[in-house]
Amino acid sequence: MENKEILFLNPVFKQMIWGGRKLADKWHYDIPGDNTGECWAVSAHPNGDCTVRGGSYDGKRLSALWAEAPALFGNVDCDRFPLLVKIIDAKDDLSIQVHPDDAYAGRHENGSFGKTECWYILDAPEGASLVIGHNARDKEELADMIRSGRWQEFLREVPVKKGDFIQIDPGTVHAIKGGIEILETQQSSDITYRVYDYDRLTDGKPRELHVEKSLDVITVPARAAKDSVLDAAGGEKNELTLLVACKYYRVWKLAVEGRAAFDQKYPFLIMSVIEGEGKIDGHPVKKGDHFILPDGYGEATVEGNLQFIASTV
Ligand code: ZN
Repeated sequence: MENKEILFLNPVFKQMIWGGRKLADKWHYDIPGDNTGECWAVSAHPNGDCTVRGGSYDGKRLSALWAEAPALFGNVDCDRFPLLVKIIDAKDDLSIQVHPDDAYAGRHENGSFGKTECWYILDAPEGASLVIGHNARDKEELADMIRSGRWQEFLREVPVKKGDFIQIDPGTVHAIKGGIEILETQQSSDITYRVYDYDRLTDGKPRELHVEKSLDVITVPARAAKDSVLDAAGGEKNELTLLVACKYYRVWKLAVEGRAAFDQKYPFLIMSVIEGEGKIDGHPVKKGDHFILPDGYGEATVEGNLQFIASTV
């Protein structure tokens, strides 16, 4: 059955000590304060459950829609909406962190999903870098470097620029640095183990670190740095270009110049407009809009000059 109703979503915003104002100034969102770090653009997670904007499901939470109208999402066999898409604006450095996999999170975090995530770099200052991976050779060296704070030796920084794409598997030490803006596609999970927070204070106190859990889950040795970053700035125009396919998601980039048509043949397709403006099947869309094309949507036609990141399970 053909289903042509596009599900537009209202984002949820998160204040963070490292956040800023770019989500208002560059993205024109109505942000709650000057330290806004994250826009949860497509999420049904209890810590930030988006509502539908307009149409027959106006105001409905995505978690409720997933439960009540599974046919919209291809009846995917999962007890919760499986993905979460965010825009992150890092005015300052984020903490050095690592995520568990499903098995560890299920055991230690009340049945939560683990977190596999990937980043499309929306913007980065000249000479920017990120922390991805580490330099410890074995578990013993890992523990020593972390416990004695040998951060310079431990952390591996890699250069990044606008248009780069990075897959972060569970167990990968990572951190976004100040000035970088990303679109993150991830498993719907909010479990982060903080390894190091640059000794920063919030209301006079350091944020909690999770050293023991981090030591449990960090992969040693880390994957080679050269295998971590994909240049996705170019790619084919007017067609979905696959950036990653893993157990949890498939993510594409779509750069439209003029007109593009593609077949929405997936259980559902999340789309985020990251540049420009135009129309999808007659609906005006612009940078900062996020929506879902439901199951059975069929052919979609996009007109204008704009870029999307799209994903499904
Ligand atoms: Zn992360």
